[in-house]
Amino acid sequence: MIPSSFEYFAPTTVAEAVSLLQKYGDDAKILAGGHSLLPAMKLRLSNFGALIDINKIHELRGIHVDGNISIGAMTTYHAIESSDALKATCAILPEAVSLVGDIQVRNRGTLGGSLAHADPAADPPAVMLALDAHVHVTGPGGNRTIAIGDFFTDMLTTSLQPGEIITSITLNPLGAGEGAAYSKFPHPASRYAIVGAAAYVKLEGGKVSACRIGITGAGPKAERQASAEAALIGTDGSAEAIAKAAEHAGENMDVLSDIHAGEDYRRAMIKVYTRRALTAAVERAR
Ligand SMILES: Cc1cc2nc3c(=O)[nH]c(=O)nc-3n(C[C@H](O)[C@H](O)[C@H](O)COP(=O)(O)OP(=O)(O)OC[C@H]3O[C@@H](n4cnc5c(N)ncnc54)[C@H](O)[C@@H]3O)c2cc1C
Repeated sequence: MIPSSFEYFAPTTVAEAVSLLQKYGDDAKILAGGHSLLPAMKLRLSNFGALIDINKIHELRGIHVDGNISIGAMTTYHAIESSDALKATCAILPEAVSLVGDIQVRNRGTLGGSLAHADPAADPPAVMLALDAHVHVTGPGGNRTIAIGDFFTDMLTTSLQPGEIITSITLNPLGAGEGAAYSKFPHPASRYAIVGAAAYVKLEGGKVSACRIGITGAGPKAERQASAEAALIGTDGSAEAIAKAAEHAGENMDVLSDIHAGEDYRRAMIKVYTRRALTAAVERAR
């Protein structure tokens, strides 16, 4: 349970962190809240020569709601779940992160760390997909923005390039006629999602004009549910329409089977939790 030895750096600016990442290349690792990285280090699943602790980079923390919502990568779950500005503009996010792990995890764990780690059972990726978020990164080539749909590429794998740091995540506030909700079946010990569903719905003239569904926990990576979304769009968002749409959830998706839940059970739960999330999202949109 003791990690291999490494050099420790605590830069105070993003530029300094990027330059350290460039200097040490594959032998460097970023430390955020440490709730995924430190266990991996202690198990010696993650070994490297340079640990770049970004906790002292103050520009990476904070929530700004001003036309759009911008959340610094180092913003903790606790800061998100206690943000009145987010509760007023994007309630799904504080609600979803309040379901992450326990208070110790939420006090240290960060939104940027969760997205970069891309754990298949993490809650924030599904919510970010439903909200169509954008991930802002800085690296040796400068700044770039990655649409969340292009961000998660496989289990524990993202489209981040070597030396890139997530700096912030941006979202649109939810307005009139829009609603979003997250519903999950948590593992009873860790609270990681065995299946989690995040849904966003927009109603115009009594009909669903837009819908996005993100599923986590079930497959190797969090994924949108195109067939279920298409099945709901154009309907009146009634309980019957939602139930029919939710039956399409999990289509064209690789679903995991492990000691926590078999594939068939997870497929059944994808539909159940999609229906629950859609029902709550439509209620909020009305
Ligand atoms: C007991 C326990 C229960 C948990 N339960 C849940 C749960 O119910 N739901 C859930 O979603 N999660 C859960 N987690 C995971 C938790 O959310 C982690 O905090 C999160 O996955 C990683 O965030 P972190 O800030 O701790 O990142 P770290 O562990 O510090 O880093 C994780 C990875 O991301 C990289 N990284 C971090 N920040 C950046 C950045 N800004 N740019 C680029 N790369 C970066 C690191 O190099 C590392 O590879 C749990 C963890 C524990 C220990």
